[in-house]
Amino acid sequence: MSDVAARLHRNVDHVCRSVADSCVRTGRDPSEVRLVAVTKYAELSWVRELVQLGQTMLGESRPQQLVDRAERLTPDVEWHLIGPLQRNKVRLVLPHVALIHSVDSLRLLERIDSVAAELNLRPRVLLQVNVSGEASKQGLTADELTADWSRFSSYRQVEIAGLMTMAPLTEDLDDARPSFRGLRELRDKIRQQSGNCGLLPELSMGMSHDFEVAIEEGATLVRIGSLLFEGLDESASTAD
Ligand SMILES: *Cc1c(COP(=O)(O)O)cnc(C)c1O
Repeated sequence: MSDVAARLHRNVDHVCRSVADSCVRTGRDPSEVRLVAVTKYAELSWVRELVQLGQTMLGESRPQQLVDRAERLTPDVEWHLIGPLQRNKVRLVLPHVALIHSVDSLRLLERIDSVAAELNLRPRVLLQVNVSGEASKQGLTADELTADWSRFSSYRQVEIAGLMTMAPLTEDLDDARPSFRGLRELRDKIRQQSGNCGLLPELSMGMSHDFEVAIEEGATLVRIGSLLFEGLDESASTAD
């Protein structure tokens, strides 16, 4: 096994174990939480190794890079788009993507729905919510979403599978908790409002530094990048 493969193997093991530990600690079944390996900063060769190790749910933040990589790697990979999507990139990305985490407007949702109808696809998406209300953050506000829920849920070709959020980037993990809890409470409110307790099953929240808190607050998808590739620059450059 190459140095890169060995290091990746250890990192994946470590992350998977930490995710499972967090579940057990909070009384959740580890099968409820899935890992999206975020490959946006990873070299393609590392991504290939990751897939070899059995990690086939991958996240990219740029549509073009997702498509390039989807065309070069095995079709077994389930690609997730986690970064901003412009309406003019919907047609490019839709045939390759299993889940779009970052739908942040009705206009974008409408475009996805109409392109999907043309291409005869049934895409799954998450609505990105700016729970903390920071001006710099992408996403719908909780109020927009609850007020407009009937419009969001009126599209037929696209399935809204859940919600996504990013917590504020701070040192103190307890700053993240209100965002994650807020997302779950928002989901519960929409369920109650619409009388459908099965709505929005997926909660995409938690990254390398805050996934444990996110799992405690109900995450079903954690998006982890840097932890998986830790130490790889060095091992790659000393490999020869
Ligand atoms: C980059 C990125 C991640 C992964 O971040 P890490 O801190 O590297 O784990 C997760 N979600 C989104 C939306 C990202 O852009």
